[in-house]
Amino acid sequence: MRHGTKRRGRFSGMALALLATVIASPAALQGQPAAYETTDDVRRLPIPPVDRSREPIVALTSGTLIDGRGGAPVSDAVVVMQGDRILAAGPAASTPVPPSTTRVIDATGLYIMPGLIDLHIHFTQQRGDDMGRYLDSPAAAAVRGTALAAQLIDAGITAVRDVGTVEDVALRIKEGVDRRIIHGPRVFWSGRLIASPGGHGDEVTSTATGRQRAAGSGGRRVANGPWEWREAVREQVRALADWIKISAPATQEEIAAAIDEAHSLGVPVAIDSFGAYTDMAIAAGVDTLEHPLDMSDRAVALMRQHRTAFVPTIGAFHNLLTTGYPPAGIPVGGFYYTHSRRFPIDQAQHLRRVREAHRAGVPIGVGTDIPFENESRYPDAYFRELRYLSEAGLSNAEVLASATRVGAEIMRMGDKLGTIEPGKIADILVTAADPLADLANLRQVRYVIADGEVVVEREAR
Ligand SMILES: [Zn+2]
Repeated sequence: MRHGTKRRGRFSGMALALLATVIASPAALQGQPAAYETTDDVRRLPIPPVDRSREPIVALTSGTLIDGRGGAPVSDAVVVMQGDRILAAGPAASTPVPPSTTRVIDATGLYIMPGLIDLHIHFTQQRGDDMGRYLDSPAAAAVRGTALAAQLIDAGITAVRDVGTVEDVALRIKEGVDRRIIHGPRVFWSGRLIASPGGHGDEVTSTATGRQRAAGSGGRRVANGPWEWREAVREQVRALADWIKISAPATQEEIAAAIDEAHSLGVPVAIDSFGAYTDMAIAAGVDTLEHPLDMSDRAVALMRQHRTAFVPTIGAFHNLLTTGYPPAGIPVGGFYYTHSRRFPIDQAQHLRRVREAHRAGVPIGVGTDIPFENESRYPDAYFRELRYLSEAGLSNAEVLASATRVGAEIMRMGDKLGTIEPGKIADILVTAADPLADLANLRQVRYVIADGEVVVEREAR
């Protein structure tokens, strides 16, 4: 039950039984509600009690378990799931497979780990074969978003954060996955990007090509002054956003107002920023920095001080430097013609900042943010991003942590996602080779389990 919406009708009888239990409990007798279950998203809306006791039980047996908590892998492990939750995980000797198990998956020779997390995607971004034709149609954006969702889940990416969408496309994909209408990862979304007039996301010319952008493409909420930035935040929260995404340039007052408003409503904030704007946002308490470019020498120390998370999306910029995006007409070398990116793109500097941040103990998340050619660049972009983190000095275990547990914590979902432990949501990747030995082994997908359901199943090669 991802968000307390689907399968609702099936629980009525059991819900009554559970209600009787709640009523009989001392807390209920004193008028105190028992601890609520909540939706499985960042908003944590209370939902009625959920009874999973009659949901099917699925067990993975005899595999090597990398539970994501940082300990040594457990060989001959068992993972037991019921409904959308993990019931038990550990060595076979101490983790029995319940007799009522509906399905046992023999994972002999396989590796069981938490599903991967991508903290920076845009479902509505372009493919190579739709430039110009579909650019400004929300319906077309939803079509390509649906295709991207399938690419991601097939690669074992079981949760993503969409940080800027057209209209309500990301929300509808989230709902479609949630209700099992479409095949895709668990979605968290940030509503529309909040920008100042002409700021990043509201440029008159398209970033990097200099071509004129179509007006009113529905991808941003332009705001002026602190009160309007607060209002823009409230609109996104009203529209069911899990996160808020803002962009530079903006004034210190606007950035601080947006962050304060979001935090007062219990919603975290991501910023796409550069230069001194990054420092302003960190000081104002922003939760994640999305590929902060042209970082100051103070930024990493500030991130450490304010416990800010860092999502560098190195690959998106490396693509600009090395290949451009030919179908989109974006040349090799960097950003051109744009007022909000007036500095060179510097791969060595990006890697150096990630290395510094990692050494300083800053949480580093995996995000891809590929803007074009999604049909051929995903899911490779995700695995390339992992390689860049390795280049920046993270060990394989640290990279895997960034892709799972740390990513979940950054997402504000650390209590429900990111590790394989009893009580957590069953989002699991099973591979044919050891990802700790070689990150490229993540690509040898055998099973993907999302929300307790086996959604990808591949034969041994
Ligand atoms: Zn982005």
